Amino acid sequence: MKQYKVELNKKISLAKLDPNETGDFDGGKEKGLKAIEKLNAELQELQELLYAEGKHKVLVVLQAMDTGGKDGTIRRVFEGVNPQGVKVASFKVPTSEELARDFLWRVHKVVPGNGEIVIFNRSHYEDVLVVRVRNFVPKEVWSKRYDQINEFEKILADNGTLILKFFLNISKDEQKERLQARLDDPSKHWKFSLGDLNERKLWDDYQQAYEDAINKTSTKYAPWYVVPANRKWYRDLVISTVLVDALKSLKMKYPKPKDNLDGVVIE
Ligand code: AMP
Ligand code: MG
Repeated sequence: MKQYKVELNKKISLAKLDPNETGDFDGGKEKGLKAIEKLNAELQELQELLYAEGKHKVLVVLQAMDTGGKDGTIRRVFEGVNPQGVKVASFKVPTSEELARDFLWRVHKVVPGNGEIVIFNRSHYEDVLVVRVRNFVPKEVWSKRYDQINEFEKILADNGTLILKFFLNISKDEQKERLQARLDDPSKHWKFSLGDLNERKLWDDYQQAYEDAINKTSTKYAPWYVVPANRKWYRDLVISTVLVDALKSLKMKYPKPKDNLDGVVIE
């Protein structure tokens, strides 16, 4: 799964990456789902350990075009983890209170604390994506934000935060199918917004904005992964694998008991 990590100083071109691919994974969906199940059990254990040790913080950033699968990823990858130590922060159109402050204000307030995993469903990256594409602020404002984001993430990393950023890469055709499925299913109408069709018209501008954001902010301490996301099972497999490997690399240990428990007898 290492091939999806955006390496420092090696620029990616989204047009050259295939949202349909399943890498060198041996076996199709059925095997993939089994592998995800195993990884999910590992994730549950690692999260328990993270919480018990209370030393590291984990920030997972999910970005994608509309229908890209952010909600589905959260549901599937984090299935069964203890809600006590995992939170989701969703970033919507900023409120007037948020707009009256710098763009990182609302973000910094919800970063993970010790032992916590926080999943960002959209993130501070919206401020160089929709904000850039829609000209909500002048270029001289948004263009400075890449460095500002890198410095912000450096502060988090220096304070013990493991940061993993995922771009769920779907194709324009796949988005059409998913939007159509939402339209055809009344139970999914709540997810359908006519505004999504306007954003779809700006597909190419968004691809460019994503490409720039990923190339300018993939750092050693906060790398981006561009995940082929047309196939949901493969998307979940890649993200679960990256997450489990990264958590394992923290070499966490259960803390020693507060008291000496030698010879303790419970009567
Ligand atoms: P959803 O994720 O479908 O609930 O939609 C949330 C909406 O909020 C999306 O259309 C985002 O583009 C929008 N949004 C999130 N952050 C910002 C931001 N900083 N500025 C403007 N729009 C934003
Ligand atoms: Mg939406």
